[in-house]
Amino acid sequence: MSGGVRNGALACCDLAMPGVAGLHPYQPGKPIAELRREYGVTEVVKLASNENPLGPSPAALAAAREALQEVHRYPDGAAFELRSDLAAALDVAPEALTLGNGSNDLLDLVARAFLGPGRNAVISQHAFAIYGLVTRAVGARPVLVPAHPAHHPQPRGHDLAAMAEAVTAETSVVFVANPNNPTGTWADAEAVDRLLERIPPRVLVVLDEAYQEYARERVPGFPEGLPRLARHPNLVLTRSFSKAQGLAGLRVGYAVSHPAVADLLNRVRHPFNTSIPAQAAARAALRDSAHVAAGVALNGAELPRLARALADRRLGVLPSAGNFLCVDVGDAPAVNQGLLRRGVIVRPLAEYGLPSCLRVSIGTAAENDVFLGALDQALADAGAAS
Ligand SMILES: *Cc1c(COP(=O)(O)O)cnc(C)c1O
Repeated sequence: MSGGVRNGALACCDLAMPGVAGLHPYQPGKPIAELRREYGVTEVVKLASNENPLGPSPAALAAAREALQEVHRYPDGAAFELRSDLAAALDVAPEALTLGNGSNDLLDLVARAFLGPGRNAVISQHAFAIYGLVTRAVGARPVLVPAHPAHHPQPRGHDLAAMAEAVTAETSVVFVANPNNPTGTWADAEAVDRLLERIPPRVLVVLDEAYQEYARERVPGFPEGLPRLARHPNLVLTRSFSKAQGLAGLRVGYAVSHPAVADLLNRVRHPFNTSIPAQAAARAALRDSAHVAAGVALNGAELPRLARALADRRLGVLPSAGNFLCVDVGDAPAVNQGLLRRGVIVRPLAEYGLPSCLRVSIGTAAENDVFLGALDQALADAGAAS
């Protein structure tokens, strides 16, 4: 790494916007190639970014490959075909959709359109880090609401009642991840509906549904945002092709909202934010529901198995409606190092205020077994050292 420029080292950096000067860059899961370089390991199991262990849909891959022939052209900035397909699949008007370079892009668009100096966004403790990042980047203030306590049925999960309570005259956005990453916890229909009833109509509620395919399988009666849109025009749903569809590397996500909100988001959207191969792959992925179902079924079998295996080791595991588990391993930095040395990448959660926890994505059965074997060794090492 060449390292960043220290504030004050360059005169022009002094004029960086205060919100930006105080930011810490988002720390993604360690790339496989980086682990190979740093640790000299050859076999790597990456369970760090909640990706689909089955890979992309073969049909999506073929569509992306075919579309590569057109990349001397600009993409269709309005993504007419993908928006039409999505609109049909979701039974919404195409005007209700905003496409993003991943759903991260949409969170950024929300911030740029609705947040700024003098405004705040209500965010839960332990929530997905991007909410705070996009909020600060535009000079707005994140209002951090304490999560549910450890003994709650959704330990460390969003306290939606407290979040509604935290809304002030300065609030223009409430960010809710359901389920949340990195905790995996979720809000039930009653909590979501009560939140939507209590938030003033002038405040936008962003419901991040990056894991909704998994959540629907894991939690009976899981409260989806779509049927709630008609009653609550201040609701914005963000969804992603990165997780269940296995297209994280191509960067496609979308927001569903009232068309008037979508119109505002589209005004600040970069005109070509989804590429030609990404649009083509997303359309094919949308048709390949069998691939999503296979990934969801694998997760449905492997997540409970891994949760039991971790509990058998007397480790605390949070309930999860996603494709990952948040596990308390005690000395997380040491255990994480032990895992890395053995070629297993998971996600330490110190920056999420969970310094003794690791987040592990659910892999294939074979990958999960490699993880468990390496974990036992890493735990033994960490225990011997302390
Ligand atoms: C992974 C994830 C996303 C998806 O990000 P993309 O930009 O679509 O890849 C969004 N929200 C949460 C909570 C996530 O965990």
